[in-house]
Amino acid sequence: MTARQGVAILGSTGSIGTSTLRVLARQQERFIAVALTANANAAGLAAQVDAWNPAYVGLVQGPVPPNRTWQRGARVLIEAATHPQADIVLNAVVGAAGLSATLAALDAGKRVALANKETLVCGGALVTDAARRGGGSLVPVDSEHSAILQCLAGRRSEDVRRLIITASGGPFRTWSDDAIAGARVDDALRHPTWRMGHKITIDSATLANKALEVIEAHHLFGVPYDRIEVVVHPQSIVHSFVEFVDGSVLAQMGTPSMELPILFALTWPERVPDAGLASFDPVALQSLSFEAVRRDAFPMLALGVDAGRRGGSAPAVYNAANEVAVARFLEGSLTFGEIPSVVAATLDALGSLTVSSLEAVRDIDQRARDVAGAWQRRTFSFSDVMA
Ligand code: MG
Repeated sequence: MTARQGVAILGSTGSIGTSTLRVLARQQERFIAVALTANANAAGLAAQVDAWNPAYVGLVQGPVPPNRTWQRGARVLIEAATHPQADIVLNAVVGAAGLSATLAALDAGKRVALANKETLVCGGALVTDAARRGGGSLVPVDSEHSAILQCLAGRRSEDVRRLIITASGGPFRTWSDDAIAGARVDDALRHPTWRMGHKITIDSATLANKALEVIEAHHLFGVPYDRIEVVVHPQSIVHSFVEFVDGSVLAQMGTPSMELPILFALTWPERVPDAGLASFDPVALQSLSFEAVRRDAFPMLALGVDAGRRGGSAPAVYNAANEVAVARFLEGSLTFGEIPSVVAATLDALGSLTVSSLEAVRDIDQRARDVAGAWQRRTFSFSDVMA
């Protein structure tokens, strides 16, 4: 038996982290969990540590339970990402906090199985440069990018005419524009096909998630923005398409489960049997449908793709402003319809600068958070009338 590959899981108690541990439980002859980190869920982490006994355990914030010798603080992400026993780093951290861990892992020559899309959105060329420099590799865990990677299967980028990324359309696909603007938190958290954490579920409802995925695809596959399209596919069975220059189109399909793209990110470019994944039954699917995105009803898509096209710091500003706006919506200080207003105002206020270091990304991220956090609803006032 060849040596097992060590896996560090950043964000092990979240939806992707727990799915990864289910995959590892079935693939124990190939992989071993060597490092686990959680943001603040100490109870969930303790249960995982008791089951897996990893060499390294880290908690980003909150108290470490008594009689546990875990590491604590923001540095645990870097320590886990560069752990000597880790061959693969599964980065499932939520938000821009995942970028420095990805860079550290790539510099250390690790494979990064990337579920933190903010890494490429905020880091862009910094990340692809770190992979080249350190000899590490970047393999997507996101179902759409995993699908594209599988369709490309080593083909040259000159062979590709278009990437077509599918979107479920989220819970408001069929709602009127007015109803969407006033949607409540529990409406937005009711995703039709995927069970995920709160941040990404809101991003799926606004389609910000799809904008982040377009930017991510641009960096991962080196395809220009005018050759990346989005189509709504409510069943979430086709995970994306690649159209080649001869007009041939490949798609990757499967019932919606993150365990398949997680497994593929761990084993790529190989495939291994896995008894835990449901067998595909085309008859049971009955029908697959596709429709155009309602761009006016979901302005976060165009705002994000435009930020990607502008490049520089604009994607990081978009991402940070969105993180703040989503948090404000979840706590009740913004309406759903105000999320794009906050993000557009923050992009207008900060413009786009060149970003050439992690410090520069951190700086612009913080400035965008400050601007988005200070955004106020414009209320009617006498000066409006006089102006
Ligand atoms: Mg996705």
